[in-house]
Amino acid sequence: MSSERSVFGAMLQEFEGAARILNLDPGIWKILTKPKRQIIVSCPVQMDNGNIEVFTGYRVQYNITLGPAKGGIRFHPNVNLDEVTALAAWMTWKCAVAQLPFGGGKGGVICDPTKMSKRELEALTRRYIAEIIDAIGPDKDVPAPDVNTNEQIMAWVMDTYSMHVGYTATAVVTGKPIVMGGSLGRREATGRGVMITTREAARHLGIDIKGATVAVQGFGNVGSVSADLLNRIGAKIIAVTDWKGGVYNAAGLDVGKLIAWVSEHTTVAGFPGAEPLGTDKLFDLDVDILIPAALENQITKDNAPRIKAKIIAEGANGPTTPEAHKHLYDRGVFVIPDILANAGGVTTSYFEWVQDRHGYFWTEEEVNSRLEAKMVEAFNDVLQTSIKYKTDLRTAAYIVAINRVATVTRMRGMYA
Ligand code: NAD
Repeated sequence: MSSERSVFGAMLQEFEGAARILNLDPGIWKILTKPKRQIIVSCPVQMDNGNIEVFTGYRVQYNITLGPAKGGIRFHPNVNLDEVTALAAWMTWKCAVAQLPFGGGKGGVICDPTKMSKRELEALTRRYIAEIIDAIGPDKDVPAPDVNTNEQIMAWVMDTYSMHVGYTATAVVTGKPIVMGGSLGRREATGRGVMITTREAARHLGIDIKGATVAVQGFGNVGSVSADLLNRIGAKIIAVTDWKGGVYNAAGLDVGKLIAWVSEHTTVAGFPGAEPLGTDKLFDLDVDILIPAALENQITKDNAPRIKAKIIAEGANGPTTPEAHKHLYDRGVFVIPDILANAGGVTTSYFEWVQDRHGYFWTEEEVNSRLEAKMVEAFNDVLQTSIKYKTDLRTAAYIVAINRVATVTRMRGMYA
């Protein structure tokens, strides 16, 4: 499959660039480019109308060399094994870049949650978890939220697992509600990490974040929090799009009011105090910072030439195809790669897992200041590596990650 279409193909292409620079041992190369475990399950669910539907679910544990697999669960009609495998691989590199004791995993179920009732979603979540129950656990594989999955769904995941093992196991999943072992700051953590890395990139490039203009694609968890926190440090959010439409205001959108609008109307479209914006027009805007925070394969070789932003912070996983990335790098656009830019979510998930295992919880300030330190360290590691190897930040992030996973793979040796 062409890498414009295969998400895993895109991951392999990115991996190869870094592995070549590292002169990676061919045996280790083979290990790191194969998923360790791919699980496919069928989940029968009785729908509200009495009919039975069977949903296909996946869980991929790409690599568990550094620790338990870690990665979100996605509910979306376009979920497929190729995508889930790529997302699990990216989790492997992301955890390694952020120096977390986790491997990479990901899950997904083919479904359209916008057309399902709460009861149907609960039944699907519980059946999916029951089908993969032997593969997950605090020391095996720890799921988290992703596109269209939220705190409530994580609560059902925790409860289903706990019912199976016979005791309350909070550390089996992260992104839970605070009252049941969730971490303060987790909901905002991915967007906070996007803000921190964008701020560091602007500082490195000599761009004043105060007054810098920002366009955001996707206004869910990642997009809305990134916009809000960048706005709070002085950046001006001038355009936002989501699945249904977009809004534009050259003077800057009122992000707080926009968030309130979306919680009521489920879309940014129609927000008063802004002009409507076609979703395909977002990438054409003359902005300093562009944040893709929706889905993969959004910035392609077709629209990349029109992008005017100086910094792209990849809130989403895999939003830029390798062809588009090359084009942007050649033009001097500073792309903060997904495995660095959106690592704040898994970093605070790690904090949640640690707190659950200790049964001792931190203040929000402690969580946020530890996240700040981790993200700045990861940004600097990747930046220094890119300077050392005279390469783009994505390749540099892969170099950092591959180096860490390969070193431990070699030290552990081959079990036979
Ligand atoms: P979400 O479901 O909360 O939000 C997704 C947003 O994207 C919604 O606003 C939706 O309307 C919008 N969208 C969907 N299709 C679109 C399109 N074609 N054009 C414009 N907007 C579109 O999901 P999320 O948790 O914010 O995740 C977004 C991305 O960030 C995904 O790639 C996810 O893998 C990645 N990510 C999420 C987390 C996390 O902690 N939630 C962590 C790391 C990475």
